[in-house]
Amino acid sequence: KMFEDCGFSPQLMSAIAKQRYEKPTAIQCQALPTVLSGSDIIGIAKTGSGKTAAFVLPMIVHIMDQPELEKNEGPIGVICAPTRELAHQIYLESKKFAKTHGIRVSAVYGGMSKLDQFKELKAGCEIVVATPGRLIDMLKMKALSMSRATYLVLDEADRMFDLGFEPQIRSIVGQIRPDRQTLLFSATMPHKIEKLAREILSDPVRVTV
Ligand code: AMP
Repeated sequence: KMFEDCGFSPQLMSAIAKQRYEKPTAIQCQALPTVLSGSDIIGIAKTGSGKTAAFVLPMIVHIMDQPELEKNEGPIGVICAPTRELAHQIYLESKKFAKTHGIRVSAVYGGMSKLDQFKELKAGCEIVVATPGRLIDMLKMKALSMSRATYLVLDEADRMFDLGFEPQIRSIVGQIRPDRQTLLFSATMPHKIEKLAREILSDPVRVTV
């Protein structure tokens, strides 16, 4: 399979070329068609597999498909990651693709000024990349609304559970409309993650690399 078969816009294709991604990785081959068709997915994959692009590229397509995109009504794509380091990496990777379409990405994680993050979110974004605790703080401060969020990614779900973020994840998922598309990535699938997946995904396709 090739990126050409995914139906990406010329802008996205040139951003992919600029990254020197010649062909999709194994997780991208398996996940891209499924996610682009609108299905929920459980991706069992580790960092280094290319999973970030597997969820970011379809997210850009999903966002570009939204009517009245220019309205400042909160993020359409929401990505939760366990650590600031990972959230920051995802932020950098998403920005490379998002900027080709003028899509704004905000990063929300601990260690940065809450007031600055509040102001940035108030200014508007279409994608938010966050650690669970700080996203909850921002939601409590009403820095953003989740009312039009329809594409949710839980990255490294097993690590988020190991770090004790299960209640925060459940709270975030509970604030996002049920007719969303949900993608769950995890390196391992312990019972607790299987249970979460059963509860929050609908008819997920499972891909393992
Ligand atoms: P990730 O697993 O998402 O953290 O990605 C690991 C690394 O692989 C990152 O540096 C990506 O930029 C890179 N990468 C992602 N997809 C591809 C691809 N199709 N071809 C080459 N490198 C890639």
